Amino acid sequence: MKKMNKNKRKKLSFPALFGIAFLSVTILSGNAVYYKLKSTPEIEVKKVSAEKTNDPMLILVNRTHKISCGYNGELILLDCGKYVDSRIYPQLQKMFDDMRDEGIYPIVNEGYRTNEEQEQMMEDKINAYLNEGYSEKLAKKLAEELVAPPGMSEHELGIAVDIVADKSKSDNEEVYSWLAENAHKYGFIQRYPQDKTNITGFEYEPWHYRYVGSEAAADIHEQGLCLEEYLEL
Ligand SMILES: [Zn+2]
Repeated sequence: MKKMNKNKRKKLSFPALFGIAFLSVTILSGNAVYYKLKSTPEIEVKKVSAEKTNDPMLILVNRTHKISCGYNGELILLDCGKYVDSRIYPQLQKMFDDMRDEGIYPIVNEGYRTNEEQEQMMEDKINAYLNEGYSEKLAKKLAEELVAPPGMSEHELGIAVDIVADKSKSDNEEVYSWLAENAHKYGFIQRYPQDKTNITGFEYEPWHYRYVGSEAAADIHEQGLCLEEYLEL
């Protein structure tokens, strides 16, 4: 993959926005947290129930914590054609540069995804199961085990990326193992570890990395936690 080009930086609004959007996030304790999001990446926290939730990079989105409204941020276009939140871009670029210096060649296979794209993914998956002859109910159930329902995917935040190998130069296994060992140094965590599937609600995904910032990533890595466990502490 070509290097991400800073000149391609552009400002985009995430969907359903009129400059200001309110994102309501329910954290593990069940209390609602409200973020007032402006069209700039700056975030004014209106009400929080835990200090950690002051950090927008620690927003929890999973099968029980839906993005309840539009989410706003500045996206940046990568050369591979994917978008990511500009706040994670510098560290993502640094991580890729360092990996390439070691002779391992990653690409971003998926970055920001709109709610509509997430919905389409789900529909496609359900249709694939229907075509295989499953009943409507079972097709939906199986699809939801693999694909996050719309509003429940971290990709809709723009701060999660799927990283795989540039197949002409590397293989996935070497990319995954480099990431597992080093991604935390750049503020990224493996979001769906093999031994946490019952907590995260997602199958093991060695390619899916979520930005949480260097401090949280170091703690999560050292203590062998998943994001849900970390936020509960
Ligand atoms: Zn992913």
